[in-house]
Amino acid sequence: MNKSKQKEMFKELVLNATDFMLSAAKELKDSPKFSLLHFCTGVELILKARLMDEHWTLILKDPGKANWRRFVDCTFQTVGMSQAIDRLTGIMPHTLPTRVEKAIKNIANHRNQMVHFYNEDVVHKHAKSLDMISIRKSLRSASKGSVAGKVDTEKPISEATTKRVNAIAEKVMRKTSIQQQIAAEQCRVWHHVYGLVCGPWSSAFSQHSDVLSSIQEAMTENKVYLEESYKELKDQLDHEIESGQRVDECDVCGYRSAIVVDWGLGSCWSTCRVCSAHDVFLEIKCANEDCSGTVKARDGQGECSECKDYYDIDRLLDIVNPPGRRSHKDGHGTDRVFCNTCAGAVGYKQSAVPQGDGTYLCLCCQETFTTLGTCEWCNETYAGELGGETFWLGCAMCDGRGNRD
Ligand SMILES: [Zn+2]
Ligand SMILES: [Zn+2]
Ligand SMILES: [Zn+2]
Ligand SMILES: [Zn+2]
Repeated sequence: MNKSKQKEMFKELVLNATDFMLSAAKELKDSPKFSLLHFCTGVELILKARLMDEHWTLILKDPGKANWRRFVDCTFQTVGMSQAIDRLTGIMPHTLPTRVEKAIKNIANHRNQMVHFYNEDVVHKHAKSLDMISIRKSLRSASKGSVAGKVDTEKPISEATTKRVNAIAEKVMRKTSIQQQIAAEQCRVWHHVYGLVCGPWSSAFSQHSDVLSSIQEAMTENKVYLEESYKELKDQLDHEIESGQRVDECDVCGYRSAIVVDWGLGSCWSTCRVCSAHDVFLEIKCANEDCSGTVKARDGQGECSECKDYYDIDRLLDIVNPPGRRSHKDGHGTDRVFCNTCAGAVGYKQSAVPQGDGTYLCLCCQETFTTLGTCEWCNETYAGELGGETFWLGCAMCDGRGNRD
């Protein structure tokens, strides 16, 4: 195996991804179908490049039959989009954040549907139903249940909230052109992918920042379709702002069109009416004296909008759940518990805090839990259901009984 050959093949993958993305950007106006297909191929190639950076055999359909000679000759079968995602999440946990995984899976489903049954109505219906699914999911996870320890995830949401969310959903479901739809979808997915290749994945991609920024430019040009959407919605949005609704600038499309709902303790949920991006984040005031900035944290970290001070999960936890205010019922001075979803993602911190109504909020993934679970082997408490096998299989903190013999 030759390192420079491997580097060369990585470069080829990135350049190919760039070609597909650039044609996707150009094709949007006259051939939206091909724009979507080519965009997805570009995303798939970037995921493969990331896998290849970890190990070249990871992009092979069957790594067990890896053969360097055949690899160099390009006579091998590679993974598809969904297998690439499974490998990234399975072999390199937390490499692909859940929200990015969801956005990519959504666009891949949309592509598959388009390949088989292309017609505008199907595409509209599909895109709308995806919007509705994610709205309902966000709503369900954000809905406050009652007493911890009881399964209560389907507890009815208050009438006022339901009305408000239905109003948002209806407006998201307005009739838009196919170009507007696809531009919004590409904008959302590219925002995430570009964030990865410039951020956590930059050690692999930094040598190709020039070509990647050319994609960024092309995608930005296509925001003209979002401009159309924004103009159509402007009056409505102004009206909302006047009537006291919080409307923020959207991180994805840049328009002041993100409707923000604060669910308590600074846990916010937003939906953009222009690009349909959904976001969950924790928002707190900067703790530094003389700083009036705010900190928007995702995945347990964030920085101040003004002084740029960094907040890690420990700092966020101490602000939202200060030591002095905690109940000392267990004698250890903590009422925080591990989050079942992301116990391993934040360095094994107890990232879920009580919200005062029996529910727990995880400051890392922003999920609200109405149930608590206990590991049957080590007795550690978790927010969320643990499943029935913890005695044998253990939890994030222990290996269970199974490994003892
Ligand atoms: Zn937006
Ligand atoms: Zn600050
Ligand atoms: Zn969590
Ligand atoms: Zn355990």
